[in-house]
Amino acid sequence: MVDEQKEPKTPLITFYLIALAIILCLNFILVPFMNHQTIEDVDYGTFMTETDNKNIDEVEIMTNKIRYTLKGSDQVYQTGLMEDAGLVERLHESGAKFSSEIVEQTSPFLSFVLYWILPIVIFSIIGYFLRKQMMKSLGGENSMMFGADGFGGLGMGKSNARVYVKSSDGIKFSDVAGEEEAKENLAEIVNYLHDPEKYREIGASMPKGVLLVGPPGTGKTMLAKAVAGEANVPFFSMSGSEFVEMFVGMGASKVRDLFKQAKEKAPCIVFIDEIDAIGKKREGGLSTNDEREQTLNQLLTEMDGFEGNNGVIILAATNRPESLDPALTRPGRFDRRVPVELPDLKGREDILKVHAKKIKYADNVDFNKVARMAAGASGAELANIVNEAALRAVRDGRKFATEADLEESIEVVIAGYQKKNAILSNKEKLVVSYHEVGHALVAAKQKHSEPVQKITIIPRTSGALGYTMQVEEGNHYLVSREELLDQIATLTGGRAAEEVEFGSISTGASNDIEKATKLAREMITRYGMSDDFGMVALETVTNQYLGGDASLACSPDTQTKIDEAVVALVEKQHQKALDILKENKPKLDEIAKFLYEKETITGEEFMKILEAKEEALTTSEAPTTEGSEA
Ligand code: ADP
Ligand code: ZN
Repeated sequence: MVDEQKEPKTPLITFYLIALAIILCLNFILVPFMNHQTIEDVDYGTFMTETDNKNIDEVEIMTNKIRYTLKGSDQVYQTGLMEDAGLVERLHESGAKFSSEIVEQTSPFLSFVLYWILPIVIFSIIGYFLRKQMMKSLGGENSMMFGADGFGGLGMGKSNARVYVKSSDGIKFSDVAGEEEAKENLAEIVNYLHDPEKYREIGASMPKGVLLVGPPGTGKTMLAKAVAGEANVPFFSMSGSEFVEMFVGMGASKVRDLFKQAKEKAPCIVFIDEIDAIGKKREGGLSTNDEREQTLNQLLTEMDGFEGNNGVIILAATNRPESLDPALTRPGRFDRRVPVELPDLKGREDILKVHAKKIKYADNVDFNKVARMAAGASGAELANIVNEAALRAVRDGRKFATEADLEESIEVVIAGYQKKNAILSNKEKLVVSYHEVGHALVAAKQKHSEPVQKITIIPRTSGALGYTMQVEEGNHYLVSREELLDQIATLTGGRAAEEVEFGSISTGASNDIEKATKLAREMITRYGMSDDFGMVALETVTNQYLGGDASLACSPDTQTKIDEAVVALVEKQHQKALDILKENKPKLDEIAKFLYEKETITGEEFMKILEAKEEALTTSEAPTTEGSEA
């Protein structure tokens, strides 16, 4: 992490609040304190009794009330004025002194000082200190903070751009594992920031903006920080959503401010995360967002405004590049695009190693194997997996994490924590065993499946009652039609095993069905792998980095045909799975029973039973064993 130095925000609103508080204090606490005499209300009867008892010391008859004190006391009493003939007479007789001012009034001069001069003096002092502090932190540049222009005066419209001063302990490229292409691409920018002269001489200009594009958690922010760290320049960072404010015009003013600061600190890196929040395509029609558009326009203006070689490089990250406004990506703006993809096997291994440096782990951890198990995980997820493993080691009272910890944390990330106290009935447990072994067996009996790594029937918090983990052998960039078909067959294997063994089916296959259907549909609509439609794109992917939603692009007629084709495709694979399981029923039984007892079995144990059985079958010519099973 780089140490960030936040711009102190002392909006004037706080100042006014303090002032108000002080006025209230003065009026409610101080002023009554000065007229310290408190007055007690009494009824007229009491007053008359005291008069008759000749107890009254001083008395003041006012227009609507009477105030008096008693002999030998300072306490002032007051009561309402009544129609009382002869009151003055009686008072006089009782020996009371008539007074014109029992309650002392504060002198006009004192109250003037108290109500007017004192607050002004106090505010001036507070204001002076606030201003001094602000000037110190802003290097004097914003001494017009109070007053000057309307908005600035209220502390609004100021940018919250965090200033990362010289990322001293900053992130370097070596902290970002994998992503070699992205690093190579960005290294040029680091070079440029080191020695802009070299580029200026030859007349080359750096791209002003670089767009880092990729799924969440792949290290885009890290890469941007690493560029600043490598070049040893200040790093300004802001999230796109921070620009979009409630008031129209404030986002634009923030952009202006950010660039003003950046130009002063050049060479530097400005990083805008989630740029799609402001850079979304501007569309005509009613649903426009004025604030966002103004902010975007301001950003475009700023980018056009500075000349090519002034040392400010803007990096922006997004995971929905297709939604960006074309104006933003045209030459001269964010014209360079650096893909930051999910890490491949090697990348995953490296990321695991980078993060494992932060924890203590056993010497014999095979990171390659762990990386293979964590197929499809992003950098952020891998970092999380390593941390989970360390936490698990602590929980178990061990001094270091083991490979088992890492494997378990992958499962935690994939399927959630083990549900220790979920109680399945024996029948349910048996169904789950058959279901999982069904998947594993179908996978193992096909040529194009990934090997089985682990089968377990311990329920997880995600709702999974068990699962079969398959692990790819190496890197995989292309998937063949056969592999996809085998995957679908494997997915249907769970349900098929239930049918073969119990002749009835359960709800446990819903997730499998969903995945199988999705794969089948993709084969037909996107990969051109069906005989009926051929190489025609029937679907377009709208959100490739965020789950990959697809929208159909064909006539209703074709849609009906697609649906039919999907059903047929999945059903064919389902039949294949059924055939495989029927053929290997004895093995299905044996492994399912083994799993039922042990709850978790490894891929090796699985293969051992499978192969041992095969040998036994071939040597003893089968019939005896099959007879005993039936
Ligand atoms: P993004 O901005 O792409 O969403 P971040 O850069 O914020 O992702 O990454 C989040 C976290 O994931 C980082 O703090 C880091 O711990 C981890 N991480 C992601 N990618 C990598 C990588 N390539 N190497 C090392 N750590 C990574
Ligand atoms: Zn299943």
